[in-house]
Amino acid sequence: MTSHRRAIFLDRDGVITANVYYERWKEWEAPMSPGDVELLPNAAEALLRFQRKGYLLFIVSNQGAYAKGKIALESLVATAKHVEALLAGAGVEITESYYSYSHPQGVVSDFSGISLERKPSPYFPRLAAASHGVDLSNSWMVGDRDTDILCGRAAGCRTLRIFSPHAEAASVTPDLEAQTLFDAVEMLVNFVS
Ligand SMILES: [Mg+2]
Repeated sequence: MTSHRRAIFLDRDGVITANVYYERWKEWEAPMSPGDVELLPNAAEALLRFQRKGYLLFIVSNQGAYAKGKIALESLVATAKHVEALLAGAGVEITESYYSYSHPQGVVSDFSGISLERKPSPYFPRLAAASHGVDLSNSWMVGDRDTDILCGRAAGCRTLRIFSPHAEAASVTPDLEAQTLFDAVEMLVNFVS
């Protein structure tokens, strides 16, 4: 298969979906149940625009809450399905969603410790490239954390950071930065290296 298709690899939380404040842990977290899912304003519209420009769309997301003992795995899987259903309802075609449910400091034995697929590993973008003929050097990783930028860079993609009020301070420099996914569309499509 020739590798000629361009893709956008999307971190999910803080980019497509809003993070949620959980009183239980007094922390902003990824949504952990379907009822907590809210798409960020104009996120679906941004994805439709990428789609119309011919980009394949992939979600690449770390969801460590089950590994950390916070929630049932079923709830995280149902949440992921709900996000995909909302996007599909808006006409967005996600070619594939890749989730890592492990965590290096987890407490659930089979889901804890070193994992090959968890970002910043480029495992999932590399797998997407092999599976769907993606040209990684003409593709982008879009996320709100250093791990997203490092994942994209390690995969040989260009990188764009979305501002998120709940991400840790950035210490890795992406190729581009934008306030929202919607703002990112024109910047990214018109990017000339
Ligand atoms: Mg994020």
